[in-house]
Amino acid sequence: MAHHRGSHGAHPSTAVLTRGFDPRLSVGSARPAVFRSSTYVFASPEAAERAFDLVSGRVQPEPGEVPDLIYSRFNHPNAEILEDQIIPLEEGAEWSIAFNSGMAAIMTTLLAILRPGDAVVYTVPLYGGTQNLIHELLEPLGMVCRPVVAGHSAEIDEAIRSTPNLKAVFIETPANPTMVMTDIKRAALTAAQLDPKPVVMVDNTFLGPAFQHPFPLGADLVLYSATKYLGGFSDLLAGVVLGFSPELNRAIRGRRGLFGNILQPDECWILDGRLPTVSLRMNRQSKNAQRIAESLVHRPEIRKVFYPTLFDDPEQIRIRLSQCDYPGAMIALDLHGGKPAAFEFLRQIRLAHNAVSLGGMETLVCHPASTTHSGCSAKEKEIAGITEGLVRISVGVEDWRDLLRDFEQALEHVAVAAAPSAE
Ligand SMILES: *Cc1c(COP(=O)(O)O)cnc(C)c1O
Repeated sequence: MAHHRGSHGAHPSTAVLTRGFDPRLSVGSARPAVFRSSTYVFASPEAAERAFDLVSGRVQPEPGEVPDLIYSRFNHPNAEILEDQIIPLEEGAEWSIAFNSGMAAIMTTLLAILRPGDAVVYTVPLYGGTQNLIHELLEPLGMVCRPVVAGHSAEIDEAIRSTPNLKAVFIETPANPTMVMTDIKRAALTAAQLDPKPVVMVDNTFLGPAFQHPFPLGADLVLYSATKYLGGFSDLLAGVVLGFSPELNRAIRGRRGLFGNILQPDECWILDGRLPTVSLRMNRQSKNAQRIAESLVHRPEIRKVFYPTLFDDPEQIRIRLSQCDYPGAMIALDLHGGKPAAFEFLRQIRLAHNAVSLGGMETLVCHPASTTHSGCSAKEKEIAGITEGLVRISVGVEDWRDLLRDFEQALEHVAVAAAPSAE
């Protein structure tokens, strides 16, 4: 089934609405139908044979040939529609593959690229699930996984040059929760000097697809937890991988068919409907966050506000200006008074909710040291800048003045709780 319409060259906000869905294939419906069938009827036994030859990779499609659908573990119309419509949001992408979570996308991609004995260099801190995937699955399988500290460009270059059998470079930028940035272009240039060239993959969940575009910087693959900004409403789990190399597309898609971790039709349909507003939502969230972060910076209860427009390291400022359009909607506050202060802050917030995850319409606040990063060793927390007083905020689309007032009143409680009590 071909869902393409000729709108290549349009801007992302146009193309996301005009590419990849043909209403004629959904009885004229302006929005796609949901195709919940698990299996598809063949036009002929010859068509079935051809479809299996294509999906197994035994033969390559003729130019313009669109493989017939077979069975929904391999592919289904709502995945095709979603995958076509998401492509224009990521400049330089030629294809995308939808998964039933961000972790499924990351795992499937790494297992499509790495064999036992192969190496991957990865930035730390890393999303906790990805870190566990490395320690609990990849390393026991015999893959060599080498951490490098996010933002340390020279150290990253050195690791890329000196790691034998290097097949992948995994970059998560900005790093969670302190927003430390890694120079994608520099790492990609260093990787490009190797033969064979390792696959440079970027987890773009925090600033993409609106504010950070890894392909023009030299990345080979872009990965998302679509559970976050792409989904945008904290009501579904999904993941996406985008790329341009036909070989990587085949390899990752083949693994997805094997594992069965394709995103289900209903979730594809929901996520597809969220794509046209991702840039609107992220813009509002980023503006809110910037106003809040810059208003809180001199509060006496706060040791440091971590936010891209408040960076003080010249190298971090340079990376931000060269690779991000806007600062995004994640803030971390390091409170004087450690864990008691952070917990008091969480108890006192009234509009924001105490929850992990991010990217939704509603503002969420968490204490990384005891939740998202509780699996990290003391050393890992130190490298990541995760102190006991740190709270992470995912700013939503509420009015920023109400959120600021909420955080200020919570900080006043923190100050009172910390004051020495009169004897
Ligand atoms: C949430 C997240 C993931 C994992 O995604 P799931 O959809 O929860 O599986 C991976 N990377 C980053 C940066 C995330 O924030």
